[in-house]
Amino acid sequence: MRLYSTRSMELQTMERSFSVVELRSVKGKTLPCSVDVCGIVKDYDKSFAFTSKDGKDLVKRTLTLADDSGISMQVTIWGDRAKKEDSEFEGNPVVAMKGVSVKEWQGGLSGSLMEGGSLAFNPDMPEAHKVKSWWTQGGHAQSLTFISQARHFEAVWHPASDEHALVIALQTSGGGGARIAGKLMDVLEMKQKSEQLVNEQEMYSAYCRLSSVQLRKRDEIQPLYYNACLEPKEGNGLPCNRRVDEANFCAVCNKTVKAAPRLNLRCRFEDATGNFWVTTFHPAAEKVLGMTAQEVADIEKSEGREVVEAKLKSCYYAQILQVQLRAKPDNYNGEQRTNVSCPSAQPINRREHARFMPHTKLCRRQLQEGDANDKISLIVVLA
Ligand SMILES: [Zn+2]
Repeated sequence: MRLYSTRSMELQTMERSFSVVELRSVKGKTLPCSVDVCGIVKDYDKSFAFTSKDGKDLVKRTLTLADDSGISMQVTIWGDRAKKEDSEFEGNPVVAMKGVSVKEWQGGLSGSLMEGGSLAFNPDMPEAHKVKSWWTQGGHAQSLTFISQARHFEAVWHPASDEHALVIALQTSGGGGARIAGKLMDVLEMKQKSEQLVNEQEMYSAYCRLSSVQLRKRDEIQPLYYNACLEPKEGNGLPCNRRVDEANFCAVCNKTVKAAPRLNLRCRFEDATGNFWVTTFHPAAEKVLGMTAQEVADIEKSEGREVVEAKLKSCYYAQILQVQLRAKPDNYNGEQRTNVSCPSAQPINRREHARFMPHTKLCRRQLQEGDANDKISLIVVLA
């Protein structure tokens, strides 16, 4: 009688070579990095075939892994691994992966299993048993934190908060007459959908909070607004909107014109499922900040950059917004990518909070103290 087959010997050797880290610990690492992980396949996308910029036919599939550290992370697998039948990924199998390259992507972290790495389904190793029993004993119902390097993210959204419940209530009810066009979804779904976009432009909307504005890029101060030409265009009478120079000269109109500041911000929004960076145009950016471009420009001019940055930071997490996103397929040097921008945003007012979540501490405090204290009330709820 044989105790084990040759194959299982091989498998055991492979399994022994894994040095698995918890997903939670990945975010503390210097990026990019390579790690071995072991998690439940919480979700999977259909495999996706495309041609790379150097003309290679590729197939990929993105898995969402979760482990008992309460973190989920997307990992892309390639080629034959991605081409496996959907059924292989069904029923939340445990997978162990060796050689996952982790990089920052749209404000979160995302992994890619390298060709030289390895993938094992339901391996016989202690980490796999641990993760499996966590999943069956309640982990499947746990609210997971999508992996991100933003420390603040976790402090505000984790664990499953009243806030998350409020967002779900807004989503399922349609937000009490959503004023913003676009299919309503959460941030994670929106990211997945926009990544897989192939042909046509799509509109999405999500309930989320502003969590950051890009103020610097590699130490270089980023402008928050530009001065735009107000000259009416021939034909439709709409303002020209081109950037003017310091003397208010518009190169398109070829003269000195009246000009006004227009916001152009790179904003990070988040909900309990994830976050993303997006270019936020003028009218949306004014709604997001609750400040006009003129106010932002005036503060910067009269009180300085530091003061205006502090003002912007005071808007982080200040209110729930319904944000509209436009995802456009784009071609960059032959590589398929999606261009996502935010053309419109609308704060959800206090009355709506109260209607959906009348019994939470969050809303009671908001009702007592007003919108300005939303951020404080959130922290109180989670404390
Ligand atoms: Zn002009």
